[in-house]
Amino acid sequence: MANSPKLRIIPLGGVDEIGKNMTAFEYEDDILIVDCGSIFPKEDMLGIDLVIPDTTYLVSNRHRVKGYVFTHGHEDHIGATPYVLSQVPAPIYGTKLTLALIDLKLREHRVNGIPYHAVQPRDEVKIGQFTVKFIKVNHSISGACALAISCPAGTVVHSGDFKIDYTPVDGEVTDLSTLAAVGDKGVLCLMCESTNN
Ligand SMILES: [Zn+2]
Repeated sequence: MANSPKLRIIPLGGVDEIGKNMTAFEYEDDILIVDCGSIFPKEDMLGIDLVIPDTTYLVSNRHRVKGYVFTHGHEDHIGATPYVLSQVPAPIYGTKLTLALIDLKLREHRVNGIPYHAVQPRDEVKIGQFTVKFIKVNHSISGACALAISCPAGTVVHSGDFKIDYTPVDGEVTDLSTLAAVGDKGVLCLMCESTNN
């Protein structure tokens, strides 16, 4: 199978840092983006208001970007959306609260014409050659999901930010049974959030 198409996972931010989370998944001609976050500038970045991921690769491959999926609505996962979507527009997918928070940003920056697709946990959406399943997780914001991202090369699980809480305020626990079912089918790679705590 040496010549079969490969899945490439390209972190554009969020690795070895807490902020500007953004990852590109590339299979053949299709690119899927997970999250599009920002980070606040460090002390030595004088005059800089906000730092966003380096999207040079996406801009030069903009016609191949099929969509953006969002794990949840924190700034380090959605903060760069107005700047990136204005340059690389594509449909966006997320739970209702996540999309509402992104919508505020896009309106403020007058980024129009982006198709929104609201999902619920356990929904599965087809984006180019990818199928993305949203899996409910607990976090400090509602509407947070992990993702099972499948393409012909296999499945990657992206945890998003999460905790395992058996008594969450909203009563909706992390969907461990769906995660287990995804695991039973076989997973190529688990991308797991860590803030070193
Ligand atoms: Zn978060």
